[in-house]
Amino acid sequence: MYRTHTCGELRMDNLNQTVTLAGWVQKVRNLGAMTFIDLRDRYGITQLAVEEHSPAEIREAAAHLGREFVVQATGRVIERASKNPKMPTGDIEVAVEKLTVLNAAQTPPFTIEEQSDGGDDLRMRYRYLDLRRPPLQRAMALRHRMAQSIRSFLDGEGFLEIETPYMIKSTPEGARDFVVPSRMNPGEFYALPQSPQTFKQLLMVAGYDRYFQIVRCFRDEDLRADRQPEFTQVDCEMSFVERDDVLDVFERLAKHMFRNTVGVEFEGAFPRMSWHEAMEKYGSDKPDIRFGMTFNDVTGLMQGRGFGVFDSAEYIGAICAEGCAVYTRKQLDALTDFVKRPQVGAKGMVYARVEADGNVKSSVDKFYGQDDLRALAAACGAKPGDLILILSGEKKHTLTALSELRLEVAGQLGLRDKTKFAPLWVVDFPLLEWDEEAGRFFAMHHPFTSPKLEDVALFDTDPGRVRAEAYDFVVNGVEVGGGSIRIHDSKLQQKMFEVLGFTPEEAEKQFGFLTNAFRFGAPPHGGIAFGFDRWCSLFGGSDSIRDYIAFPKNNSGRDVMIDAPASISDAQLEELALRVELPEKE
Ligand code: ASP
Repeated sequence: MYRTHTCGELRMDNLNQTVTLAGWVQKVRNLGAMTFIDLRDRYGITQLAVEEHSPAEIREAAAHLGREFVVQATGRVIERASKNPKMPTGDIEVAVEKLTVLNAAQTPPFTIEEQSDGGDDLRMRYRYLDLRRPPLQRAMALRHRMAQSIRSFLDGEGFLEIETPYMIKSTPEGARDFVVPSRMNPGEFYALPQSPQTFKQLLMVAGYDRYFQIVRCFRDEDLRADRQPEFTQVDCEMSFVERDDVLDVFERLAKHMFRNTVGVEFEGAFPRMSWHEAMEKYGSDKPDIRFGMTFNDVTGLMQGRGFGVFDSAEYIGAICAEGCAVYTRKQLDALTDFVKRPQVGAKGMVYARVEADGNVKSSVDKFYGQDDLRALAAACGAKPGDLILILSGEKKHTLTALSELRLEVAGQLGLRDKTKFAPLWVVDFPLLEWDEEAGRFFAMHHPFTSPKLEDVALFDTDPGRVRAEAYDFVVNGVEVGGGSIRIHDSKLQQKMFEVLGFTPEEAEKQFGFLTNAFRFGAPPHGGIAFGFDRWCSLFGGSDSIRDYIAFPKNNSGRDVMIDAPASISDAQLEELALRVELPEKE
């Protein structure tokens, strides 16, 4: 037996027991007479004490220990002279009677403690060392617990966990595919699934009416803090359901997760908001509703007073920042700089302060009288002491910029509290999205999403207004999940492909396997997929999904630890009938 206890286990109750621990040396403190060793494993840290009167070979071994040595220590649990209330094991220490070095270690490139002195790159290169640190171990444990909790809930609801293949044909999720060449079929490629979408629908045709899978998905997209080229979804599908049946099951799953993972109890149903309302009031299809500060359309109110910027704008939107009339010139300039950043993209910002006497002072007083400005304040529900911030321009663009501004101001006001959770369902998304460059419609969700049946007639007259039976699960401004009721009628599916600009031949070639299957009795069905890494990071209180993935890629999609991607040998290329031609470097 290498150990009788873990390094996180011993307490005063264990006093006088002889125990054996094994773990990594986090720190050695040599105080002359005494040597203290912090021994770590993933359960915690226990202090080992080597005393002046300990046998010479133990003192000798202790003197030669280095950071991250793997050691085994046997000794008696004793009460510490100076206790450490911050450590769960801080009341005791182990008086070492036997010390064995199981393996020496090179000095690690950064400190492996709660806080590390290593930079991101270095820690990614030595991810296995970073994973020894408590914050990452807590993240992995949280991820594990969440996965178990999801499985037990869905199992209880009669869902079957079924695996689907990773080497498939392109799936229509809208991102680029990663592809795998086939040696046995030269010149042909598998695509890695962007999601198991088509397979889960085939499982519905096959009669497995409640399916789920915690599954890896692959998308070749530009990376951000909440994106990875391979990520994990909780993928689900159900048959004989309408939208509200799906929302009911997964709202209960979400509540179960909130309760079991972060100890938050929700009374009553989660709010639902139409996509249209989300865009008009929050400028985002994933609104953060932990706080208000919703948009006010003041276009009508502010035009026609000779202020050219407003008069030429398609849309003028205002938000009211409560209590912010005290903002200094410097703070306002900083906000103006913020909205002018290319990522936000506004041309400028107009502000108006509501003063104690109800008078409104604005940055455009030249054009507006007190009556106009008081009407503006009233439209925004602004009280004395509040600050009104206004952006204008092309509508879609301005809504997005105002959304960024709203989040920025909320951040400054401390309204984005990570311990507070505000879930909601966003429903009634548009089915289609017009792409100016391509000159055609794209499916906003994916091509198998059902239109709202009452909107089908609009297909022929105004396809852009057709709404989808699609829904997103949003928490604190993060899209945690999304799904839809699917088309199960092959005629409607054909219509959809037509609107998306597929010829019948192209549709047949790409999705024939699915549309054919639908001719053999497809039940009405629908489903949802949750971004598991995102959900973990949300519950863990971090903005980066990387912290919740054991071996993530960096922002250029590289695994710097194993150095992937990498070139392959000529022999491998030949076997695959591939030739590589790199573009010339600029
Ligand atoms: N396959 C979809 C996605 O990955 C989710 C769904 O419609 O179930 O976003």
